[in-house]
Amino acid sequence: MTTFLFCYFKENYDAFMTYHLQENGFNILECPELREVIQSTDFFEKASAAVRSPYMLKEHCKSKLMLVEPVYHILRSESGHKIGTYSYVPITEVLKHYCSHEDIVDEIQANRYMDRDPNYLSDFSDGTYFKEHPFFKVNPHALRLHFYEDEFEVVIPLGSKRTKHKLCAFYYTIGNLDSKHRSKLKHIHLALLVRQTFVNRCGLQTILKPMLDELKILEIDGITIKVDGIEQTIHAALATFSADNLSAHMLGGFTMSFSSNRICRFCMATYSEMKEHFNEEDFVLRSPEAHEYHLKCVENPEHKATYGVNGPSPLNELKYFDVTKGFPPDIMHDLLEGVVPLTVKLVVCQAHKEKHITIQEMNEELQQLHIGQNDKKTDQCCFQRD
Ligand SMILES: [Zn+2]
Repeated sequence: MTTFLFCYFKENYDAFMTYHLQENGFNILECPELREVIQSTDFFEKASAAVRSPYMLKEHCKSKLMLVEPVYHILRSESGHKIGTYSYVPITEVLKHYCSHEDIVDEIQANRYMDRDPNYLSDFSDGTYFKEHPFFKVNPHALRLHFYEDEFEVVIPLGSKRTKHKLCAFYYTIGNLDSKHRSKLKHIHLALLVRQTFVNRCGLQTILKPMLDELKILEIDGITIKVDGIEQTIHAALATFSADNLSAHMLGGFTMSFSSNRICRFCMATYSEMKEHFNEEDFVLRSPEAHEYHLKCVENPEHKATYGVNGPSPLNELKYFDVTKGFPPDIMHDLLEGVVPLTVKLVVCQAHKEKHITIQEMNEELQQLHIGQNDKKTDQCCFQRD
């Protein structure tokens, strides 16, 4: 049966190739070599000869597709016993290969000289943080590395198995490409993959060491890449580190409780003050200088709650990363699961109470909404009388 299907596919494949070549003005009858290849009975075998085993496939990817293999780092306990391993994909190697692609170089160059409307914020480099950044101010054309961290379960998280197989992943993308490319998977690189239990046991300082060592070299010395046969040095630095609030506070060395005392990594707001004031001017913003002072104070653990700081961040090793500004707000939790539904609820309730709109009218409006393909399965929401 398999042989039959295979032969059927091959016969039609021959016809398909021959038809399209002839359609494009290439007469296959005039090229006996190509005809022989296409009509050969072991065509697929010949075509896949270079990748017929997992080992050969890997070697092929390494030699022809510039695959950068992960490096496995061993974690040991204080007594020297092996705890486990985690994978790290060397950033320098990836950047060297990535930036030697002609289309990537062209894109980075185009981005460098792009005319920007000063009235709009369309990219990280349009903002004050970039313009005043101690590294990017001096190296405006250096690569901007935007990191992202998240945790995920690789099995269905049920009962006792919950968190057992949880993985923690670090990815990055290069901000010098046009934003339309940045969400594509091929432009998002994996840097590090580790079990969450190892992070809890060994600490981020140990796990992130190989990554931070490379980031330090990238910001100070840069890397040499070859473009069109010409060697050039490019620098790169960590621009932002996105994560959910809990992970951002863990990475930044801030307290990880959001229900009392100082809960913000950008300012000195307390949980209760945030319910009474809503403008930035009403709060004292954190700064690298003040943070330095806070770190000294929290050497006495009693002061952790006073400043909302747990201790130094592993990212402080980088000369140019500022933990008080480098972790962007967590839009998913702050807005989509926080302020937005609450605001919608209050506005709708008030509009209904003041008789501007009835429940039936609101439901009719909701029916008219165009729901995107991905959300079609979600039940159409509607308001009910209570
Ligand atoms: Zn704040």
